[in-house]
Amino acid sequence: MVLSEPFFTHLATYTIESDSGDDSASSGDDGDEVPVARNDRKSSTTAHDGPKGKSQHLSIAYIVLICVVASAWFKQPRTMSDWLYTYFREVIHPMINQKSGSNFVRPAAYGDGGVHAPPSFWVHPPDTTFSLACHRLNMTSMYLPRIFFWLPHFLVTVLCCPCCGKPLEKNGALPPRRITDMDHSFYIVTWDYFCRSGCKTSFRGWSQHLLDSLPAYVRLSFPAILSRKGGLSNNVISQLRVGNQHKMGPQGVHSLLLEMHTLRFNKLQTQYLEAIFELYQGRTFDTSQSTIHSYFDQKFPSFGNFGDIDGYSGFVPSERYLASMMNKVIERDEADANQHTACLAIDQLAIDDSHKVCPFHLQIQQNTS
Ligand SMILES: [Zn+2]
Repeated sequence: MVLSEPFFTHLATYTIESDSGDDSASSGDDGDEVPVARNDRKSSTTAHDGPKGKSQHLSIAYIVLICVVASAWFKQPRTMSDWLYTYFREVIHPMINQKSGSNFVRPAAYGDGGVHAPPSFWVHPPDTTFSLACHRLNMTSMYLPRIFFWLPHFLVTVLCCPCCGKPLEKNGALPPRRITDMDHSFYIVTWDYFCRSGCKTSFRGWSQHLLDSLPAYVRLSFPAILSRKGGLSNNVISQLRVGNQHKMGPQGVHSLLLEMHTLRFNKLQTQYLEAIFELYQGRTFDTSQSTIHSYFDQKFPSFGNFGDIDGYSGFVPSERYLASMMNKVIERDEADANQHTACLAIDQLAIDDSHKVCPFHLQIQQNTS
């Protein structure tokens, strides 16, 4: 029996839409269910405007909003926490948006920083154990996800249009895409490319058409299978396919993912609480009329629940989504599977030639009765 929510959170953990096959991601809104608390918080901030001068305030706010949106990377999705949006805007965006003249500079992660910082697609968050060891209790740094920079124009001499072969131009960074891995979620960051000198077609960096046009050793580095607004890592896809061959379908994989994701959350929460506990060990207090609460003269924020949007933002996709993604990947390999079957030697074929014909004496009995 799979519980709809883990025992330590009041929010459901599988809240993803079905896969429709459309690769649209322009809005950045992945369509997940929205917790009520977040909407209430946003509405409360605009509830104090009086009727007088309201239209003027709105017009000014609209202009400010346009300026902010124009300067921002992408519009904040409803399901993305403020701290994560700030992280993308202030840390990740400058990494991919640095220019030297009219050209974008290769991100530091793509450069060879020597033995201690080899080139990588990944931007890893700092390991929080080091800050906890210094008693710096920053929960946001414990929530940070990994980021995957998929910038194929740095990996080939000229990135060409898959349709007409003309060079593609960069057309702005796309909103990050959340991908579910085995025990956490990470985000893919890529560019939108435009064939200005050729067929005037736009390609997202993660579109299958563009991926298929890349050299195989580049294409195989892409870590995920995408749906319309989400995606699963190759590890999860492999788990689904292998599990399906050994009597563990999407329901079992969903239980596995829920267990792994919440286990990671539990470990981080334990580290946080243990670091707080260490702060109070060995202290002496005035014991007259003291209670357990006298230990806590300094207040620490709660680590939060697994599914809190403004906290850990834990997420596990539904069984239905996992099943649809598994079917999508299997159907994608249909032509290869048919070709493999056609290449099999005749002694490896299992032919059912029973023809399901009734024995002759049974046909006689049926005709005479
Ligand atoms: Zn083209």
